[in-house]
Amino acid sequence: KEEQLKALDWAKVDNLMPVVVQNRTSGKVLMLGYVNEESLAATLESGKMTFFSRTKQRLWCKGETSGNFLNVVEICSDCDNDTLLAIVDPIGPTCHLGTETCFKGELDPALSFLSDLEEVIKSRKGADPKSSYTASLYARGTKRISQKVGEEGVEVALAAMAQDMDELTCESADLIYHLTVLLQNEGLSLADVANKLKERHTK
Ligand code: AMP
Ligand code: ZN
Ligand code: ZN
Ligand code: ZN
Repeated sequence: KEEQLKALDWAKVDNLMPVVVQNRTSGKVLMLGYVNEESLAATLESGKMTFFSRTKQRLWCKGETSGNFLNVVEICSDCDNDTLLAIVDPIGPTCHLGTETCFKGELDPALSFLSDLEEVIKSRKGADPKSSYTASLYARGTKRISQKVGEEGVEVALAAMAQDMDELTCESADLIYHLTVLLQNEGLSLADVANKLKERHTK
């Protein structure tokens, strides 16, 4: 990967390389920025995405005033070395307008909604059980949540056996929701499950 970054075609981009920034968990595109060689080196050194700001005409560590840093997991170049992709774990909202991404979310990848839902479910921990169904599930604990997952699993199976596709969709939604609550309650995430599937796939 480091070797790849040595082959970047700086001349072609007039020393300002565009960087597409993507959320590692949801796959959402968060923002686009530019790096020069110095800001790329600072990024690799600090692990925090550091651009060259065209407005400020200086190195700009994203989050330097807001605290909304982009922790870099990996940076790689594209097929002809004139664009970078930064895979990040963002701290807080990336856009200075307070939204998760600088791009309006309507066209987000469909599956990234599972990640949004998981964030909401996570945020209900410790909330008043009277204020939210999710909070009431947490309050009743592992046994009740597990029971709900079991019930919804059976409902999924019955809907499939009845060949009722609307029902199968609804019951699958119930199952995924309750399973996400159960995982959160046990300190696990959908990403942990996805990583397990990925690990099996590559074996
Ligand atoms: P920050 O780097 O998050 O501390 O923000 C510092 C300043 O950079 C903000 O006041 C904005 O002017 C600008 N800024 C922050 N985030 C973005 C962004 N995602 N896209 C463009 N400009 C930004
Ligand atoms: Zn290219
Ligand atoms: Zn923005
Ligand atoms: Zn159900």
